[in-house]
Order: sequence, then structure tokens, then C-alpha cells
Amino acid sequence: MAQLSPAMRALVQPHLVDIEPYDPKFTPTSINLSANENTYPLPAGVRDAIDAALASTPLNRYPDPLSGELRAELARWHGLEPEQVCVGNGGDELLFNVLLAFGGRGRALVTCPPDFSEYAFFASLVETETLSVARDPESFAPRVDDLVRAAQTANLVIVTSPNNPTGDLFPLDAVERLCDACPGIVLVDEAYGEFADEGTSAVPLLARHGNLVVLKTLSKAFGAAGIRCGYVLAAPDVIEVFSAVRQIYSVNVLTQATALAAVRARDVYAPVVAQIRAERERLRAALSSLLARTAPEPLGRVWPSQGNFLLVRVPEAGNVRERLRDEYSILVRDFSYAPGLSNCLRITVGTPEENDAVLAALTELLEEDAS
Ligand SMILES: *Cc1c(COP(=O)(O)O)cnc(C)c1O
Repeated sequence: MAQLSPAMRALVQPHLVDIEPYDPKFTPTSINLSANENTYPLPAGVRDAIDAALASTPLNRYPDPLSGELRAELARWHGLEPEQVCVGNGGDELLFNVLLAFGGRGRALVTCPPDFSEYAFFASLVETETLSVARDPESFAPRVDDLVRAAQTANLVIVTSPNNPTGDLFPLDAVERLCDACPGIVLVDEAYGEFADEGTSAVPLLARHGNLVVLKTLSKAFGAAGIRCGYVLAAPDVIEVFSAVRQIYSVNVLTQATALAAVRARDVYAPVVAQIRAERERLRAALSSLLARTAPEPLGRVWPSQGNFLLVRVPEAGNVRERLRDEYSILVRDFSYAPGLSNCLRITVGTPEENDAVLAALTELLEEDAS
């Protein structure tokens, strides 16, 4: 809050005064591949089902605090009981709530960066110490033995699978080791889980580990980032904690109605998800041969991904991002500022046309630089 007057700074809690408002600086561009949204149109019929649900939703009544119908539908989908589900205003609210409930002053969160920056941010809001167990700087593989050691004295461990922005899965046997080692809560963030190979979700492990929490969202595969809806799956007593600390009416009636219609139509999304996965591999192969030609390793690199995005290292990434935006009207995310990610861009996998456009633009820019 750099703009604050000294008088206002004196009023704010000391650990909060240096936080800046979140502004992703979304310059309007014709193609936005910067936020890992699903850029495809909603599948046929889903939009109509949502519109009908919205049209019949009264606005004058408070929402059901615990999103009962949606909760039951999510439980059915994942083969769990409704008492094992808590819905939130986006996954972000639930990430804040897990820190609010299980973190706090004098307590520690273990993370595995480079990862989602919200974890450390929410930890700082509630004065929780973040212990970072950094990934291997080249492969980005998590250092599981070090994580397990750190987990032994942690109140909370958060791992991401597939990880944002590195794209890799967190191995399930390592999740189990963390659950066994940690006296606190182990949260596996599966915001991109629908894009990953089958059999890679930690949800089946819930049956064996009472301290495991799995986070999901409708912002990515379901193409509903605008409605703000996420949920956690866990043992009933853990969900009881999430239910108790939440903002009571955080999930509004329009979000509940939209999410219910979308989740009921979940099977209809399968072809979209399959297409994004296929486009991801096409884009990766094309970028990989472009980089081999114009910026061979270690200058250029594209990592494998199980999400709907690719992490790509290019020479002068900051400049490449700016030229993509200003000369081609394509927005991607620059991670150069993040420890371990110098010259790395994260590119969301879009529609075939969007992917062709980003490929053509990068080909021009990188071939120009290479010549
Ligand atoms: C997008 C994302 C989320 C949740 O996003 P919401 O829009 O708040 O549901 C959580 N974790 C990761 C790693 C993400 O990338």
C-alpha cells in the first residue's frame, strides 16, 4: 500500500501495510492466454441449462450458506458424502480459509515453489510462516524427502497437482508420505486436475487419510472463472472446520445455480477437455521444434504439462511478452520475476486458432532474434 499516507499506514496492522492490491494488468488484447481460463465456448446445451437455472433463481432471498444442492451433486460425482464437501467463492476463498483455520501466528505452512503465489500471500495475511522447499531448478521435480522432513513439524502443507506454473503432477505416493508425516493438514490443489491423465487424482486417498484436503475449482476445465466457485473434499471433521470459518453467504445464488447446472452437465465437457489436452501436445511439440531451431537449451525450453498451460523459457522473455502484447495483441504471463523462473512465460492452451496465432507470432519473434 505504497500510496498510503503515514497517518493511514499507522492505522493498518503492521504485517499488512506493505501488501499491494492484486492487479494482473490485463491489457485488453484480442487473444488472452494469460490466466489459464478455458477459452472455448461452453458446450452445446450447457449455456441454455445455465440460463434457464438463472432465470428461475429468486434474487431476494439469501443463498443457502452451505450450497446444499450443489454440495450433494459434487459429492455424488466424486463418490463421497455431502459432509465431505465444502463450496467456496472460488478456490481462492478456500485457500484463505485453510490458512485462517489451520495457520496463524507461530505456525508454519510448507510449500513447494515455484507454485501458486496465493499460498504465501494468504499465509502472510494471517501471519503464518511459509517454509519453502524449492523444486529442482531444472526439472522442477519436487524434493520429496525434504518436503516430508519439513512436514513433520508443519501445521499445513500445500502441494499442487498439476502444478501451476510448472505443469507437473505431484506423485500420489508422495502425497501419502506427507499425510503420514504431517501432524497437520495436507492440501492437494487440483485446480487443473480435469486436464491430467486418469488415475492421478488424490481423491481416492481421502478414504485412507483423515488429514488430506483436495481442492477443486470450476474456474478452469468448466470454463466458469467468472462465477467464482471452488470446493474442497476432505473428511467430515475437516469440512466442519471449513464450514465454520467461512464467510456465511460467500457463494451467491447465481453462482450456486450456475455451478449446479455446469456440474450436472460434467460429461458434456469431456470433448472440450480432450481437445485442450490434444492442443496442449500439439503446441508443445511445435514450440519444442521452434526452440530447438532458434534458441537451443539452455536458452529455450518447454516443459511437459498436465494442465491447460505450458511453461516456456525463451531468451528475453519480458521483451517477448511485451512484443506479443503490443504487436500481435496476444497476452501471456511472464514469470521472470519469480525465483527459479527467469525468462519463463506461461502460455494458456487456447482454441486451435488462438494456438496457431501464438505459434506464428513466437516463430516470427524468435526467428528474428536468432538471425
Ligand atoms: C486457478 C487456481 C486456483 C483457484 O482459482 P479460483 O478461480 O479461485 O477457483 C487454485 N489453485 C491454482 C493453482 C490455480 O491456478
